[in-house]
Amino acid sequence: MDPARTPEHEPLPRGLSPATVAVAAGRPLRRQGGPVNPPVVLSSTYVSQGVQGPGELLYTRMDTETWHPFEEALAALEGAAQPAVVFSSGMAAIASVFADVPAGGTVVVPRHAYQVTLGFADDLAARTGVSVRRVDVADTEQVLAALDGADLLLVESPTNPMLEVADLPVLLAAARERGIRSAVDNTFATPLGQQPLALGADLVVHSVTKYLAGHSDVVLGAVVTDDADLARRTRAYRTLHGSIAGPWEVWLALRGMRTLALRVERSQATAAELARRLAEHPAVAEVRHPSLPDDPGHERAARTMRGFGSVLGLRPRGGVEAADALVAAVRLWLPATSLGGVESCLERRRRFATESGTVPEDLLRMSVGIEDVEDLWADLAQALGALGAGDGHDGDDDGHSENEGAR
Ligand SMILES: *Cc1c(COP(=O)(O)O)cnc(C)c1O
Repeated sequence: MDPARTPEHEPLPRGLSPATVAVAAGRPLRRQGGPVNPPVVLSSTYVSQGVQGPGELLYTRMDTETWHPFEEALAALEGAAQPAVVFSSGMAAIASVFADVPAGGTVVVPRHAYQVTLGFADDLAARTGVSVRRVDVADTEQVLAALDGADLLLVESPTNPMLEVADLPVLLAAARERGIRSAVDNTFATPLGQQPLALGADLVVHSVTKYLAGHSDVVLGAVVTDDADLARRTRAYRTLHGSIAGPWEVWLALRGMRTLALRVERSQATAAELARRLAEHPAVAEVRHPSLPDDPGHERAARTMRGFGSVLGLRPRGGVEAADALVAAVRLWLPATSLGGVESCLERRRRFATESGTVPEDLLRMSVGIEDVEDLWADLAQALGALGAGDGHDGDDDGHSENEGAR
């Protein structure tokens, strides 16, 4: 940890479990009459004269104490040797990871990943002549071959929205051995599911918007690393680009993170149960969730992750029309993009023209929240049942326009 910061916060006892770290990290120093939560400081500038001393605050774009408790708590969760670097969004954090790729360099990215990450890589390619190699992260040989001469490996695992699981220990070790910078987007797994730094990643990025903050009320991102020089460069990048987080958002994210373990444990268990029931439903063509014994990612996820995550992929029978009808028919599940909040939501990913063309057109990405599993199931079952009832009316103009009207 940055020595300038350690006096600000209560040090954590060693050997705590992640669930405890999420609650205990980033607390103010214990003193009689002091607050148990860190304050929000609203100040764009700090009193200063002459030359800035080490750890002294100067101006809020450079650093502000309201970021520190969150940055230290996230670092503790990821097992990082440096405080995390909080950014204004997950994309701002991801942009910083690409900053060291030289003009004309090569990046390796998943063919299925957060679509704006892939859009960022393509934009970089158009601007600076960087080559982008898209790989199936589940195909270890393919990824290893693509690393030849690469400058950056960016992995998601499980991937958004296909839930492919990468062999992170093998891929990250290979990148390190060849001197290739590696970064893992750990948004889906959360630090409770896997700690990529310990597996050999140079950088971990998060869309804090999702599970870490957990309540769909802030947009925020973060980068985490063990490497003091990379941490310093990432902070310098943030100061230069001005991609800084607001103090309220960071405070809310830390507040949300206190319940991370409870939320993730609950939503993961519910996701696995819903996946099991959906797989047996006659109106369902395919379910993707690494918890299912026959899922392509099951064995690898069981070996390398704790838990299987809280996002499901669902393809109802009846293609795009049935998928759209399902989204229109649910009453508890929210039709909305994003994931990782306390509320369950779903969307058909290919409604976005920018989503990868190899993602099935009728795939629904479902983010399971913390509601009661039976209420979530009842809502899905009634919506799936309504699809089945529609089977007898294929080509019925009224039924069709009704679905469109509901969109
Ligand atoms: C949402 C998301 C992002 C982007 O994060 P923002 O906070 O929306 O900028 C990046 N990666 C993954 C896996 C995501 O789900």
